[in-house]
Amino acid sequence: MATKSWKEGPVKLRAGSLASWQGQERPGVLTLSGKCPRCSADLAIQIRPSTVIVTAAASGEAAFDAVAYFQCTCEEDHAGRPETKVKGCGAYWVAQPRKNEHNDRYHLDISAQPELNDAAKLIAEESQATGSGLRTLAEKWIPGVGAIVGILGLAGIVVSDDSVAGLSWSVRLVAFSLVTLAVLMAAGATILVYRAAFGWPKEVPLRSNDDVLAAAEMINTRTSQIARNVRFGVGLSSAALAALLAALGVLWLQPDSDRPIAVTYDDGGKEMSLCGEAARVEDGQLQLKVTDGPRTTTEPIDMASVTKLEQKSEC
Ligand SMILES: [Zn+2]
Ligand SMILES: [Zn+2]
Repeated sequence: MATKSWKEGPVKLRAGSLASWQGQERPGVLTLSGKCPRCSADLAIQIRPSTVIVTAAASGEAAFDAVAYFQCTCEEDHAGRPETKVKGCGAYWVAQPRKNEHNDRYHLDISAQPELNDAAKLIAEESQATGSGLRTLAEKWIPGVGAIVGILGLAGIVVSDDSVAGLSWSVRLVAFSLVTLAVLMAAGATILVYRAAFGWPKEVPLRSNDDVLAAAEMINTRTSQIARNVRFGVGLSSAALAALLAALGVLWLQPDSDRPIAVTYDDGGKEMSLCGEAARVEDGQLQLKVTDGPRTTTEPIDMASVTKLEQKSEC
C-alpha cells in the first residue's frame, strides 16, 4: 500500500473527519479510537484528566470535558519521517470529547477555538518534555536536599552543647527560637532557588477547557514566577543569616556571661584560633577581647570565616 510521505503539522479537519472516533471511559482514563484524519491508520489514544507540568493544583474526580491534543501514532512507514520520531504521519489535531445521549460512550467534536487549540498543544508538548525530564529533575534535586539537611549542621555549630552549657533558660529559649527561624528560612530559600533553577513538578487538572487554559497560562507565566522565586529566595537567605547572627549575639553577648570563648576561623586558608571575651558583633565582625600577658587588644574576626566556637571556663 502506498502511503503518504511524512508531513508534520496540524491536519485540516472537516465535518466528518472525526466521525469514526469513539471513546470508552475507565476510571481515570478515556481511550479514544478512530482513523487518523490524514493517513487513515487506525489509532487508539488515551486521555488523562491531569498532567504533570514542571512549573514554579491537584486532581480530584475524573471527568473528560476538556479539549485534548491528538497526534497520529500509526505504525506505518511514512517516507521522510525524522529519526527522532518513531511513530505517526506527522498529523496532529485538537478535538473535544463528548458523551453520547446514552451517556455511555464518547465521540469527538472538532474544536474551533484557536486559543484553546494552542493551549492544548502547548500542554501536550510540555508534558512530553516533562515525562522524559522528570528523572533528571529528581537527580538535580538530590544536592538540594543535601543542602537543606546541611543547614542543620551549620545551626549545630551555633548551639553546640558547649556553647549553651551554663546559660540561663530564657537565653537558651531566645537562641533556640532564632536558630529555628534561621533554619526554616534557609531551607525555604534553598527550595525557592532550586525551584527557580530546575523547576518543580506539579500535577494540574485537565478536566474542563478552563483547566486547559489555566495550565497553558501557568506555562506561559513561568518566567516571571522563576524571577519571583529567585528574588524571594535570596532575600530569605539574607534573613536567615541575620537570624543566625542574632542567635550568636544572644549566646555570646548576654550581660551575665563572662566566660571566654575560643574561636576557630579560617584566615585565607590557614586555620587560626583565638580565645578571649566577646565584646560585640558589628557589621558581620565579631570583636574579641584577647588578653596576652599585660596587654588586652580587641581583635576583629569575620563571622563568615568562623568554623568553630567553644565556650571555655578560662583561656
Ligand atoms: Zn500513518
Ligand atoms: Zn496519520
